[in-house]
Amino acid sequence: MKIALIGTGYVGLVSGACFAEFGLDVTCVDKLADKIETLRRGEIPIYEPGLDSLVKRNAAAGRLRFSTDLAAAVDQAEVIFICVGTPMGHDRRADMRFVHGVAAEIGRAIRSPGKVVVTKSTVPVGTAQQVKKLLAENISGGHEVHVASNPEFLREGSAVEDFLRPNRVVIGAESEYAANQVKALYRPLYLIETPIVVTRLETSELIKYAANGFLAMKISFINEVAALCERVGADVKQVAKGVGLDNRIGTKFLHPGPGYGGSCFPKDTEALLKTAEDAGGDFELIRAAIGVNEKIPARLIARMETALGGVKGKKIAQLGLAFKPETDDLRESPGLRLLDALRAAGATVVACDPVAAAGARKLYPDLACADDAYAAAAGADAVMLATEWNQFRQLDLPRLKGAMRGAHFFDWRNVYEPAMMAAAGFAYQSVGRR
Ligand code: NAD
Repeated sequence: MKIALIGTGYVGLVSGACFAEFGLDVTCVDKLADKIETLRRGEIPIYEPGLDSLVKRNAAAGRLRFSTDLAAAVDQAEVIFICVGTPMGHDRRADMRFVHGVAAEIGRAIRSPGKVVVTKSTVPVGTAQQVKKLLAENISGGHEVHVASNPEFLREGSAVEDFLRPNRVVIGAESEYAANQVKALYRPLYLIETPIVVTRLETSELIKYAANGFLAMKISFINEVAALCERVGADVKQVAKGVGLDNRIGTKFLHPGPGYGGSCFPKDTEALLKTAEDAGGDFELIRAAIGVNEKIPARLIARMETALGGVKGKKIAQLGLAFKPETDDLRESPGLRLLDALRAAGATVVACDPVAAAGARKLYPDLACADDAYAAAAGADAVMLATEWNQFRQLDLPRLKGAMRGAHFFDWRNVYEPAMMAAAGFAYQSVGRR
């Protein structure tokens, strides 16, 4: 089957390459000519483990193409995925300009009946119906078109594996034809018995937000537990383990730290809250999860201020900028919120990140970035671990301390053990542990 994906970002590119790996004939479209040229040269514009070889292999096999020509790609495809961004708008709702723009463009390009247009972007409830309306308004010739919703659950950093081995595939559709067309694309997953959940359009759209909302809530919950641990002398790592080993709860997403970030949770929790409000209700748990998350960086910076006797004029080595390891994505990174707060308070920050430093320099042209943790720590008063890259998990502690002028280590990802850090001579602080 021939398919087209409109929007070749983290989701569109990974999905396109994986669908090609499933044996489908795929065209990935983007409006950014530079990005398409880069991909045609065989270079990958984002950092995502395993993606490079997947793209090269499928492009070489002729199953994966890149184009700026949306109309031609739509004309050839039977199923068209909308994979453009849905960032947070000024009113904290999902900004739907890109989705609506692309839906109208697809409508203008449709010249035959039976195509299925699928929203893979994370979109508020009701979007598929809006897409249907926009398609109808723009199709000339009155061709019949179907819409479907197929939210994406991949995680940056393990996106390829997540797409090839998902926990489930969710498909929302009005017609059996649309549901079956989308289902057929995932046929290789039948072999690994992946559950396929077929629902109404609105249900499918809400599943994505409810999933992200729940995960964000779990993170805010453990961060609240961590704050309580600090007050009562408990150890949050052990609390999380003891709680998470209960099958009903699970150990995942129970790691306290500088709060959730990235391109999804912050905007999706806000959009979920707005959806609830717009529907005449409220979502108090999500409101609380957002409130808790927003307060965390200030709490951590206050601890640094106290420990260092003020951060003004201090030199801080920041280890990690990306919102999590194994990605170059800086969108809504808690590391950047900490960086902003430290710089605003007058600290000098030297940062280090294995892949996100180049992107960070575009946002902060004056940011000093070092090649490794030891160079970042040279002459520093303190080290602050903000992203738990593997490179930062096995630091040579005597070497690190030897490079510094101070001895403070703020481990905001709980990578190290307090006793080990004390033995290495650090004034060590972490989250939710004495
Ligand atoms: P992204 O910003 O990385 O990519 C979006 C791409 O769409 C960009 O390359 C942009 O140039 C392109 N685009 C915008 N308008 C276009 C147009 N008119 N024609 C062609 N291309 C156009 O975004 P992303 O991270 O891939 O996210 C896309 C959607 O998927 C969002 O709704 C997001 O919430 C959702 N999602 C993201 C992830 C993730 O981990 N990044 C996971 C699951 C779901």
